Amino acid sequence: MGSEAKLRKLIPSEQIAATVSRLAAEIRHDYHDKNPLLIAVLKGSFMFLADLVRQLDLPLEIEFVRISSYGGGTESSGAVRMAPGALPKLKGRHVLVVEDIIDTGLTAAFLLDYLGRKKPASLKLCSLTDKADRRRIIINIGYRGLAVPDKFIVGYGLDCDEKYRNLPDIYVLEQ
Ligand code: 5GP
Repeated sequence: MGSEAKLRKLIPSEQIAATVSRLAAEIRHDYHDKNPLLIAVLKGSFMFLADLVRQLDLPLEIEFVRISSYGGGTESSGAVRMAPGALPKLKGRHVLVVEDIIDTGLTAAFLLDYLGRKKPASLKLCSLTDKADRRRIIINIGYRGLAVPDKFIVGYGLDCDEKYRNLPDIYVLEQ
């Protein structure tokens, strides 16, 4: 009571769609002859991945990993956890990690290091949003969507305590 969350629209769905199309064009150009393996980070990137791959008319495969640095709420715990799950052989594959947001960068750094040890032919990162002001580690985002401010955002797959993932636009959550 008294701490009702307020949503302020930050990125309308049209702008998200234009960004997804731009990223898809870049990826199509670079991977048309590479049969890439897209590894999407659950749960936040599910909507971005679904829109992105529908614009990638090239042979590709999709896998998911579940990984998080947020225990719940809006502050990163800093400690990255990865749920165990089987990935196919990555040796010699062109791997593209698909993320919803890069915040401190710790999650992506952990995942890229983990995947890099499996000796892929190439390993790149695609993120729909980039909260660069919060970065704690240098991360190369090969396919970078939209810069976002140092605010907690929800919608288009992004949640707060599992809510708001279904919203078609991206909002700042104002507590
Ligand atoms: P990082 O390890 O870069 O700090 O955080 C990456 C993960 O934290 C993202 O995949 C996402 O799950 C979560 N995260 C970071 N910032 C936000 C945000 O503004 N909103 C939401 N919903 N999740 C965020």
